[in-house]
Amino acid sequence: CGIVGYVGSSTACGKPLEVCLQGLKRLEYRGYDSAGVALAAPGMDHVAVRKKAGRLANLEADLAKHALPEATVGIGHTRWATNGAPSDNNAHPHLSADGNIAIIHNGIIENANVLKGQLQTEGYSFASSTDSEVAAKLLGKMAEQVIAETGKPDLFEALRRVARQLTGAFTILAVDCRQPDVVVGARHDSPLVVGLGEGENFLGSDVAAFVAYTKEAMELGQDEAVCITADSVTVTDFEGNEVTEPKRFTVDWD
Ligand code: GLU
Repeated sequence: CGIVGYVGSSTACGKPLEVCLQGLKRLEYRGYDSAGVALAAPGMDHVAVRKKAGRLANLEADLAKHALPEATVGIGHTRWATNGAPSDNNAHPHLSADGNIAIIHNGIIENANVLKGQLQTEGYSFASSTDSEVAAKLLGKMAEQVIAETGKPDLFEALRRVARQLTGAFTILAVDCRQPDVVVGARHDSPLVVGLGEGENFLGSDVAAFVAYTKEAMELGQDEAVCITADSVTVTDFEGNEVTEPKRFTVDWD
């Protein structure tokens, strides 16, 4: 239920993980069931994921024992379980079938069972009993579809294709190890804000996710998607039409 995302210009460093853990600490009041992070950097052959049931401290203890590799992008989640028990398996992030993509999700996907049935018929298997993993598997499938059509990965386009198929409430963030310079997000009936930095950008379910780093922010409207890189923010609707004047604001608390 707490979401944070980060992309920076350093080629590989500890900052994505630091920002995710810092943001999750500030968001932990929104969910105590589990915490998890996914990181990507150039050269990785799958996203690096760590997730643990229980409070953020459990995840931090695990990371202290086995460090994750340095990264360029990261996403982090604290869960307030709605579909599936609080457990390591049901913790976010969830992975695409090939392990290239990780997603985190806030909300409830109402048509998850229908989509899951279709994906299972196509041979997809599931590691959790969450609605959210359906979006992860579907995003992997859409990413392959985009590559087949255009010859190159485009996570932003793939996420829009997923968003068009989901009903219910969602804020989704995703990273892909084949594009370790972008974090993408989409929202419907659930909030998503962008934090604007210098050579780095942030995403959060609310400004608490990144207020330690920047007070310059942008609010995503209903049914909008966003792609952040270290030095750009692109907002579109779910069809891909660019939103030219997203709503900017300055956070006015310490
Ligand atoms: N419905 C999802 C789950 O149960 C997301 C819950 C949340 O918003 O934390 O895993």
